[in-house]
Amino acid sequence: MRFPAALIVLVPLLALPAFLAAQDAAPAKEEDTGKEAKKAAKKVPSKAKKAAKPPPTPAKELFGAAKTPAPLAARSIGFYAKGCLAGAAALPIDGPAWQAMRLSRNRNWGHPVLVALVEKLAVEARKHDGWPGLLVGDISQPRGGPMLTGHASHQVGLDADVWFTPMPDRRLTAKEREELSATSMLAEDRVSVNPQVWSEAHVRLLKRAASYKDVERVLVHPAIKKAVCEATAKDQERAWLSKIRSYWGHHYHFHIRIACPKGSTNCEGQPSVGSDDGCGAELTRWLTLVKTPPKPGPPAPEKRPITLDQLPAECRTVLAGGAAKPKTPAKPAPSRAAKQAKPAAKKTSLTK
Ligand SMILES: [Zn+2]
Repeated sequence: MRFPAALIVLVPLLALPAFLAAQDAAPAKEEDTGKEAKKAAKKVPSKAKKAAKPPPTPAKELFGAAKTPAPLAARSIGFYAKGCLAGAAALPIDGPAWQAMRLSRNRNWGHPVLVALVEKLAVEARKHDGWPGLLVGDISQPRGGPMLTGHASHQVGLDADVWFTPMPDRRLTAKEREELSATSMLAEDRVSVNPQVWSEAHVRLLKRAASYKDVERVLVHPAIKKAVCEATAKDQERAWLSKIRSYWGHHYHFHIRIACPKGSTNCEGQPSVGSDDGCGAELTRWLTLVKTPPKPGPPAPEKRPITLDQLPAECRTVLAGGAAKPKTPAKPAPSRAAKQAKPAAKKTSLTK
């Protein structure tokens, strides 16, 4: 199950870095790499074919077309990988200790609780951890939901990707935010980190993220998990460490996932991580997987894109954006929603 999901999630994500990440995610032997690439290449044109069919429009097209949040009370609806988001707040593209990346994707929207948490992490890591600031990758679309490219999850505004690349000491241009490549933390052996780019500050940053109560999981590549385990081997308090989870990819960025916020009544959570710190047998298993990956199994279970019918019923309302009951249609929705969600949230320009 992990296999195809990781592939689908990662291939289109970040151009070259993502392609490389995908190779990790489904680490193929030399001879398989071509096959994988072909598969990935096939995926793109086949979309046009599917779109030509009248039946159900994939939900990713509907949600991908929504440019503004639904001006409703903030709520995460459904599951991380099957749901949507009402009343999203925007992470301002610039903050005192962060910059949002890939602005053209318009994915700097999240549940206000998550947006606030990312901002807090940025500020606190800068203040206490010697981390210069966050480069923030994808959070969610304005109304959440499935995406046209990348990510099985990130649908309910409770997932955020943060680059391992430290924020430069200047404001990046919009162009740089599109084109700058993230840095992989992996050494050539792919089971350890590269000391040229990996630092103690990375460990502190991950520890801080995982230590927040709202954070349930922080996904990282097994080699990174290993580095964190080694750096904190003597720590007595290890609850945070269990939240740092090994996963495919995630050596250009880490992925923060928070719990269902209060008030998100139809939000479907995940079981909590348990007490195993993940530094023992589990890590060994993962390292074996990424070093000598298994042959790809049977084809992806999730071949067909999710349709609106498969999402929680409320996602129709979210998609409609409360259009059925507009108050003052004169004003653009986003600022209203952002205001409602979080006073400080600004509408971001998000131009290409
Ligand atoms: Zn992610």
